[in-house]
Amino acid sequence: MRVLVKLSGEALSGEGGRGFDPERVDYIVKEIKSAIEEGFKIGIVVGAGNLFRGVELKNLTMTRADQIGLLGTVMNSVYLKDIFERSGLKARIYSQIVNLPDVERVNYDSIESALRENSILIFAGGTSNPFFTTDTAAVLRAQEMKAKLVVKATKVDGVYDKDPKKFPDAKKIPHLTFSEAMKMGLKVMDAEAFALCKKLGITVKVINFFEPGTLLKALKGEDVGSTVVPD
Ligand code: UDP
Repeated sequence: MRVLVKLSGEALSGEGGRGFDPERVDYIVKEIKSAIEEGFKIGIVVGAGNLFRGVELKNLTMTRADQIGLLGTVMNSVYLKDIFERSGLKARIYSQIVNLPDVERVNYDSIESALRENSILIFAGGTSNPFFTTDTAAVLRAQEMKAKLVVKATKVDGVYDKDPKKFPDAKKIPHLTFSEAMKMGLKVMDAEAFALCKKLGITVKVINFFEPGTLLKALKGEDVGSTVVPD
């Protein structure tokens, strides 16, 4: 089965952190490795919150700030490729925005052959455009690698009716549709990502990635996290 895993930049640094935390990155490698060993075909879209987010660069024009954010996703992708390969995994980076020796243009034939050889596909550079997020990129790249599932790796074990950190009575919603999530104003993904999921029939699973073994459980269809389905 093919799956796209969306990692936020902070997955590499720790919450609120900057740069790379080697322990965190080792953990990511371990979780992805166990999925590859079980035969899952993995694509990754990584954010850049550990380096730069466009919205945080408030003194810049948004188009420029977002280009800096996009470049951050490329840095994270190059970092991940190296760490995956040092762990004995194969990994290839695809992007439309840079010309670097380790980065290939998105090419569907190349993606297919990379998946045949069990390479991890790392998609860098978001959607290639400012004004989007890497959540939207995750859905776009999922479709391009013919995956019908996006796993959103978070630090919360699913979707809640209100912020479980602020409200002790927050209730987990294990199954919902994109329309329900939108109506309830739940911040699972941005509206553009949802719209694309609905159009393409892609399911999103929100999991607590930092609970060991949860990624594999989610891929095996076990009842972890929350599942958001097209209506
Ligand atoms: N970005 C962009 N277009 C995209 C994806 C990302 O301009 O298609 C920029 C944007 O500035 C964003 C940054 O890259 O803030 C990092 O992405 P994101 O905020 O999604 O990262 P995450 O919060 O998941 O770490």
